[in-house]
Amino acid sequence: MPSKKLSVLIVEDEPAIAETLIYALESEGYQVAHVGTGAEAIEHVETHVPHFVVLDIGLPDITGFEVCREIRKTAEVPILFLTAREGEIDRVVGLEIGGDDYVVKPFSPRELTARIQAILRRTQRKLPSRENSEGETILSGRLSLLLDRYEARLDDKNLDLARYEFGMLKVFLAHPGRVYTRDQLMELVWDEPDSASDRTVDAHIKTLRKKIHEVDESFEPIRTHRGIGYSFHAEV
Ligand code: CA
Repeated sequence: MPSKKLSVLIVEDEPAIAETLIYALESEGYQVAHVGTGAEAIEHVETHVPHFVVLDIGLPDITGFEVCREIRKTAEVPILFLTAREGEIDRVVGLEIGGDDYVVKPFSPRELTARIQAILRRTQRKLPSRENSEGETILSGRLSLLLDRYEARLDDKNLDLARYEFGMLKVFLAHPGRVYTRDQLMELVWDEPDSASDRTVDAHIKTLRKKIHEVDESFEPIRTHRGIGYSFHAEV
């Protein structure tokens, strides 16, 4: 149960699915609003600013992707896509335009509420900025980052990371599951992104994996997306 009432907007044009979602989320203690079109969704987010949006991709007026793009212009609200189409393309497109996760129909209400809770946990524990990072620790599954010490631990063992390896891990832990392109990693992690190349990123991923494997050979939290980039998964 969420500790205070969080508001969720459901954007779904199929009444049966919408009803299931409303029931599941209200049972979990969320305050639920529902609309059936993209235009209504955009208007609702502007006026009500919900804590969370569950967004169907196939809507009668505009696509969920377009709705997401519009919402992202003004709000940081986490977005979970609902899709009827399976496949990596949906996923990558969805996440690149600013979605936080997706669920493929048909799904169980329990799976959906669990995903929402996971997203809310990680978005409410946003990465602290450099200025106030003193003493902060980021935890994700078996990994912990002690920001003020630039120290990363797997279980209780120090991974002894170099600066950019640590930087990448910090970016990954902020958004588990999100696929980062090499360009994005360069921009986010390197002091002078122009001096880095795809190979630089790959080389650092390689040494990062190696250091993780020195602690646990079978732990593979970093996934390669061929031709795209990398993502991090705490539970593997
Ligand atoms: Ca639909």
